[in-house]
Amino acid sequence: MLTIVDLPDNALDDTSRGLLSYSTRLAGFTHASWGAVTMTTPTDETVADFAAYGAPAINCLSNGDALLDTPIRLGKVLAQLSVDAEANLILLPHNDLGATLAPILAATLGAGLLTEVISVRLVDNSLQLSRAAVGGRIAENRLWNGERTLIITIPVRLLSQVLLPSIRPSKPQITEWQPAEVTAGPTATVTTRIPPDPKTVDLIDAEVIFSAGKGCDETTFAQLQELCKLLNVSLGVTRPVYDDGWCGFERMVGQTGRTVTPRFYLALGISGSMHHLGGIKDSKRIVAVNTDPKAPIFPNADDGFVADLRDVVPRLLDRARAAYGGAA
Ligand code: FAD
Repeated sequence: MLTIVDLPDNALDDTSRGLLSYSTRLAGFTHASWGAVTMTTPTDETVADFAAYGAPAINCLSNGDALLDTPIRLGKVLAQLSVDAEANLILLPHNDLGATLAPILAATLGAGLLTEVISVRLVDNSLQLSRAAVGGRIAENRLWNGERTLIITIPVRLLSQVLLPSIRPSKPQITEWQPAEVTAGPTATVTTRIPPDPKTVDLIDAEVIFSAGKGCDETTFAQLQELCKLLNVSLGVTRPVYDDGWCGFERMVGQTGRTVTPRFYLALGISGSMHHLGGIKDSKRIVAVNTDPKAPIFPNADDGFVADLRDVVPRLLDRARAAYGGAA
């Protein structure tokens, strides 16, 4: 099994740590031998980090970082490496890089591809891999018997960088790997990377969401929109707010709307119906503001404030205006 690890600034970021932790666990119960692949040669400090996560081997792609802007070439080179390493399972995170490389690897190797795998378990000597399908409404289960190479991507939100007590530190064996010249073919070059705009990013990918419920009146909703702009935060709403026509369907969070997994979800004037909670339960941190101390949102929130939005939102907006100098 090979795990493709990006090393921004030549260090493990949270995603890479999470992927290593995931790989160690997967290798543990499948008894697979595995190694990480990096596009740069890690520093001693970074190697120590790999060791802490139990990575038994690190294959460093010579000059791989120079290929990051030509993903088709990079994918072909990684395909060569996986053939040399006799890998039949390749893991990537489902981020920009992983979601770009996975289909290139699969096409080059003639391998199977399963993206955004949410769970993996052993069933009768095969791996059962599950992913959400039909907008998350059903689980699709696939069995893989190991005969054909398989590429999988794991959603970043499922990658936990926690060092599990079961992880045994390793002494990674480091191999520099010099790829053969990649034959010319269709290629694409990344010319610029544009960070996502919280105002337009799909709520599924939003990092921070401030959401308005029916407890917002027209004035607080307008203030909240300005606050979101100033703080570069994504705006979400509940169904009644969408029904009022205050924003588009793509902003609605919940069972019928988007299922979100932000780092921070601020629920403003939201009662906490099961239809709404179903769409936010995997948020890392939920903070709720509501006038009703018995609102069902509170037992489902990490922090709760019994307060009136007509006091809270203008005060937050004043603070944001003071810090960021007026409306964006
Ligand atoms: P309410 O339940 O009316 O709650 C408003 C809250 O604001 C109250 O708790 C109140 O105490 C508080 N409040 C009032 N004034 C203030 C104030 N000044 N300051 C602070 N707090 C205040 N809903 C969704 O959101 N998403 C969905 O995807 C979705 N799908 C659905 C699918 C089906 C099949 C069905 C039947 C319903 C669905 N709903 C969905 C609707 C859902 O059941 C609830 O009706 C809805 O989530 C309630 O929205 P709310 O919390 O904004 O409003």
